[in-house]
Amino acid sequence: MVARHDQTSDPELLAALLQARRGTAFFARKLNELSDAELDGDSLLPGWTRRHITAHIGYNARAIARLIEWAATGVETPMYASTAVRDHEIDFGATLSPIALRHLFDHSAVHLNVEWRDLPEEAWHHTVRTIQGREVPATETVWMRSREVWIHAVDLDNGAVFRDIPVPVLERLLADITGAWHTRGTDAGLLVNVTDRGITFGDTTSATPTVVSGPLAAVVEWAAGRGNGGVTAADQDGAALRQVPPAPKWI
Ligand code: ZN
Repeated sequence: MVARHDQTSDPELLAALLQARRGTAFFARKLNELSDAELDGDSLLPGWTRRHITAHIGYNARAIARLIEWAATGVETPMYASTAVRDHEIDFGATLSPIALRHLFDHSAVHLNVEWRDLPEEAWHHTVRTIQGREVPATETVWMRSREVWIHAVDLDNGAVFRDIPVPVLERLLADITGAWHTRGTDAGLLVNVTDRGITFGDTTSATPTVVSGPLAAVVEWAAGRGNGGVTAADQDGAALRQVPPAPKWI
């Protein structure tokens, strides 16, 4: 008889699991508000319909479940055979009937949740490898899923906005994104000011930076390449720029 509650008792991990489950429920709600015909509509991602988003989220749950099976058994099971296989799978999934697409999302989410729930406490620390080749403890899969469901709920483009995303998720997203810029050095000349947190980051060494400012949700929306409606840009003297520069690439 398998327990009906999480095997881990780590409070930080339990909080992260709750965040991922809430994000999954949020995505489900936005998906269920869409009619079958509306699934054919464009998402916020160039070249992707809402069908592609839904298929991607479904297959993402399966891929992450494979990592949890790996952590549980020690038998290496990668997320995807390759990025080409992943992309092909999404294109295929987008052609499924609406009912099959909705089942894919529902069943894969339930399956992943069961895998998480039943993973023994010590196995959460086992190392697995992401599609990017990063070696991470199994605990990291919770964040990998969280950010997918929260951001792509917005990408469904039927009413979800970055302000709907919980602050801890926004903060971690921003740290991920700016960390990626920093690693690549693509934030040169760019200073970002999060007005409702009183924090500034980016290229603090530039004498003539472009300063992008806005509240946390708006800054993350801009930084994730999802729009610049809530941010403003100015030069180093504070003179407003007519156009907000696009954020450096993130993924
Ligand atoms: Zn994604």
